[in-house]
Amino acid sequence: MDTPMIDDVQPIRFYRPDYRIKTPEMRSPEYVQMSTAAAITLGLIPGRMHRTACTHCLNLLVTYPEGCRANCAYCGLARHREEARDYADRNFIRVDWPTARYDEVIERVKAGSDRGQFERMCISMITHPDSNDDTFVLLERWTREVPQVPVSILSNPTTLEKDDLLRMRELGADIFTVALDAVTPGIFERTRGKGVDSPHKYEHYWRAIEWAADVYGPEKFGAHLICGMGETEREILEVAQRIRGMGGHNHMFAFFPERGSLMEDWPAVDRGQWRRVQLARYIIDYAGGHFRDMRFDEDGRITDFGLPQAKLEALIDAGTPFRTSGCPGKADDVSACNRPYGDSGPTDILSFPFALKKRDIAKVRRQIDDEDVKAGL
Ligand code: SF4
Repeated sequence: MDTPMIDDVQPIRFYRPDYRIKTPEMRSPEYVQMSTAAAITLGLIPGRMHRTACTHCLNLLVTYPEGCRANCAYCGLARHREEARDYADRNFIRVDWPTARYDEVIERVKAGSDRGQFERMCISMITHPDSNDDTFVLLERWTREVPQVPVSILSNPTTLEKDDLLRMRELGADIFTVALDAVTPGIFERTRGKGVDSPHKYEHYWRAIEWAADVYGPEKFGAHLICGMGETEREILEVAQRIRGMGGHNHMFAFFPERGSLMEDWPAVDRGQWRRVQLARYIIDYAGGHFRDMRFDEDGRITDFGLPQAKLEALIDAGTPFRTSGCPGKADDVSACNRPYGDSGPTDILSFPFALKKRDIAKVRRQIDDEDVKAGL
């Protein structure tokens, strides 16, 4: 299939009748999609992922046959893919998302099918007129029936007002996250705003982050940021510091081209850039460092992490900064949400969904210390 040009994209229309829809009955809140790793952990599908047996987060996605009405250039769920096939068959962050009845998901967790592995559940919203109301229904039922597993909301600010955040808090949401993804106004506009005929607005996303800080408070809100969509290391880390300064955390994703997306031909993030940003993000979020103490070259690449050398070496040797970042489970600085292979293949792992071994750390060191930027190491 040819990738549609930006000019070919149709304007937003909700409830567009579509003869190509083959699964009209599978819609939230009766049905949800879940990540492949969550479905394996729950025993819904057989399988095993490279070097990791399970995930500690049950990542759910609201689902509708007519799909997401936004058109983000890097996303496998984007509206322009209507031509492709069933919405529920589309890949998202590189993996398939099987669909199941919510009843069955809840029953399986209550029966212990996950063997107690889930430390968190997450509801991902999409841009759809029913997404808010259905998120309320899914959330209310979960906190009533499975109160021991805290819930994160991966929100879609475009359809939300501050009252909706308050309502989710009242219904028991533990952490509220905004998928800002694009860290500069220009990249945001080009990849998920007017540039791709998509409804999202950079200012409104920041408004939602401010609401989240106010409603959920320190350590209970965060933002998804994608590294490698044309921003500099300096730009993404400045945003990370701004969010940390408000009391939130940063969940960092490596840009890795999603099959079928408008950016499928873009190169994946430069490995050195990614490793330096991962390390600096960890320093900002968990190691007491600050953006103002970091130094950058004229291309915005980090040359000094602003920490004593011994402390920096110890952080790298621990490997924790290079693990998947996201909402916490039992440990504050280790994400329950490990999203196995959501931003890379298994042969060159960008976000490690498990603790790193010595050979992994040796490879990460080589990637940080690339030829162009010695990074003071
Ligand atoms: S980091 Fe994971 S659990 Fe947290 S909001 Fe993002 S997808 Fe959900």
